[in-house]
Amino acid sequence: MKINILTIFPDMFAPLRQSMLGRAIDNGIIELSVTDIREYTRDKHNRVDDTPYGGGAGMVMQVQPILDAYRSSGYGGEFIYMSPRGEMLSGELAKELSEQPEITILCGHYEGVDQRVLDLLGAREVSIGDYVLTGGELPAMVLVDTVARFIEGVLAGEESVMDESVYSGLLEYPQYSKPREIEGAEVPEILLSGNHGEIDLWRWEQSLALTKERRPDMFEAYLKRPMKLSKREKAILDKYR
Ligand code: SAM
Repeated sequence: MKINILTIFPDMFAPLRQSMLGRAIDNGIIELSVTDIREYTRDKHNRVDDTPYGGGAGMVMQVQPILDAYRSSGYGGEFIYMSPRGEMLSGELAKELSEQPEITILCGHYEGVDQRVLDLLGAREVSIGDYVLTGGELPAMVLVDTVARFIEGVLAGEESVMDESVYSGLLEYPQYSKPREIEGAEVPEILLSGNHGEIDLWRWEQSLALTKERRPDMFEAYLKRPMKLSKREKAILDKYR
C-alpha cells in the first residue's frame, strides 16, 4: 500500500520508520512518502500561511503550496485531511482504508487549511478524537499505524488483528509473562495449568468482566451478537448479563 503525507514538519514522521511499521516499509509492504509543503511555497519568506479572510485569530494554511506539493509529488488515492471536524477514526474506517492501494494524508497547522484545498481535492476529513492538537502530524501517524495493522504481512504471523481489544467485541483479558512471581505478585494459577480449554474460558470471563465494567456500551452490543455457547459458556455469560 502506498501512503503519502503532506506536512510542514516532515521530520516528525521518523517514528513510523521504527518497529513493525519500519519493517513493513523495509519489506516494501508499505511505501511511505513524505512531502514538505514548505518546499513548494512561492513566498520569498518561505511562508505557507496567511491571515483569515473575515478576520479572527490565527493563521490559515494557503492553497497554492499544498496544491503544488500534491500535484508535483504525483500523489493519488483517497485524499484525507486530519481534522477535529472530521468523521471519527474507528477500526472500521481503518480497515476500509487499508483495502485501498493508495491514500494521501494532509496535516494541518495553525487554524487549519483554506477550505478551497479540501473542496478542490475532494478531501475526506478524519478526526482522531474530540480534542484539539496543534497539528495533523500526530493524528496522521495514529491513522497510518492503525491502518497498517490491517495490511497483510505487517503483523507477525501469529498475531491476528481481529483478536485484539475492541475488534473482537470485548476488551482484552489481562496478559502475563515471566517470571511467575515478582514482588509477591503472582501469575494466576490457571495460566500455568496447561489446560487450554480452561485458559480460554478464564480469559473470556476476564474479558467479559472488564468490558462490562469499563465499556458497558460495548458489552451491550456484544450480548446482542448471535452466539453459539456451550453450557459452561452460557453459565459464565449469565453471571454478567
Ligand atoms: N481551527 C481548527 C478547528 O477548530 O477545527 C483546529 C486547528 S488545529 C489547532 C491544527 C491542525 O491540527 C488541524 O488542521 C488538524 O490537521 C490537526 N488536528 C488537531 N486536532 C485534531 C484531531 N482531533 N483529529 C485530527 N486532526 C487534528
